Amino acid sequence: MWQDIIDSKADSAILGFFLNMPERTFSVLEISKHLRQRPAKVIGSLSKLAEADLIKSFSKKGKRYYFLNEPLTPIEYRSRISYLKENPEALQLFLQKYNKLKQDSIFCANKNIQSENVVGDRLFRCQKCEDSFDLEKCDEVNRATFGFDGVSSQDVDFFGPMQLCYEGFSIFGQYNCVSTILCHYSHDAFYSEYCISSHHLFGCISLHHKEYAIFNKQYTKEEYLKLKAKIVDHMKKTGEWGEFFPVTSSPFPYNITVAQRYYPLSKEQIETKGWHYETAAEGEEEEYEGAFEVLPADTTSMDSSVVGKVFKCEKTGRPYQMIRQEYDYLHSRSMPLPRVHPDIRNERRMERRNPQALFQSSCGRCGKATQGSFDPAKKQNIYCPGCYQRCVINQPQASDQPVSIA
Ligand SMILES: [Zn+2]
Repeated sequence: MWQDIIDSKADSAILGFFLNMPERTFSVLEISKHLRQRPAKVIGSLSKLAEADLIKSFSKKGKRYYFLNEPLTPIEYRSRISYLKENPEALQLFLQKYNKLKQDSIFCANKNIQSENVVGDRLFRCQKCEDSFDLEKCDEVNRATFGFDGVSSQDVDFFGPMQLCYEGFSIFGQYNCVSTILCHYSHDAFYSEYCISSHHLFGCISLHHKEYAIFNKQYTKEEYLKLKAKIVDHMKKTGEWGEFFPVTSSPFPYNITVAQRYYPLSKEQIETKGWHYETAAEGEEEEYEGAFEVLPADTTSMDSSVVGKVFKCEKTGRPYQMIRQEYDYLHSRSMPLPRVHPDIRNERRMERRNPQALFQSSCGRCGKATQGSFDPAKKQNIYCPGCYQRCVINQPQASDQPVSIA
């Protein structure tokens, strides 16, 4: 529910969401094999960008050895990367310039690519999808986020191949399901959780390779269909049929789940809805009264004894530790060790990402009204897709001015 590290295989760690097994990637959100871009270009992980020979350069297509939009020789480029790795202060300065460059760069209003009749953002090869974000190869999937290969479904999050699914989370290889959580490779499942490779289930939990079950009890096909119809009739009368499990049944307080990251609510808003709010999560005062280890300025050559030691977050003062995989990854690439708590690192990643929400804005070139996930309050330079294609992709940017890091 609240896990940063989704996968540590293939020499990768601390990933946000991915559709294809990434390799040699660290601390990123959103990876996809369908983007036809290397993950680094999409996200901006320092290590991966360094490996991709392209770092922090916006709106550049097919470029190599660019650093803050400045073309460099391969030797100059690698020299700057090495300098950043070894000098935390230079890295901070670099990040400031990066943010300035980002503010001054031109962005396409939305990233709906090879898609038709869609409303949303970051939709790749989709058609007839509405109010959806971060989908690939979906057809008639509405009010959905994070998924691929979905057909004729609605109100679903985090899914793989599926068809005719409604109100569900973590749906993979499923057909004709309503209100399911992680019922992979199942079909005709309703109000069930963690039931794998099963079918014709109603109100079941943790079944594998089962069929015609209600509340985990086995019935004959005829008994199941008769009883299911009776339950559905009752749920229609109470207004429950078709609705997802109520939030009040969640064992987790809203403010400590990932929902808070995507759809932040205040304490008052959460409690007004009757949902659980955990006060302790606000202060996050871990009970630690021991000593803190102190990281030196250059951490790139520290040995593995740092694993398991307790450090003090430079931003919040909270204690944190490094895990072995994290250390191994960073050390093997001579990258600096983290100085802030993993929560802060996750917050920073999320801040760089556009929300799953649509905003209206005007094209900075032609003035036409356009729609995308860029919040107009951030005052970024947004072009409509047509102008972006003409002026940025097909033409060199007028704003292509090198930025010095010296
Ligand atoms: Zn325009």
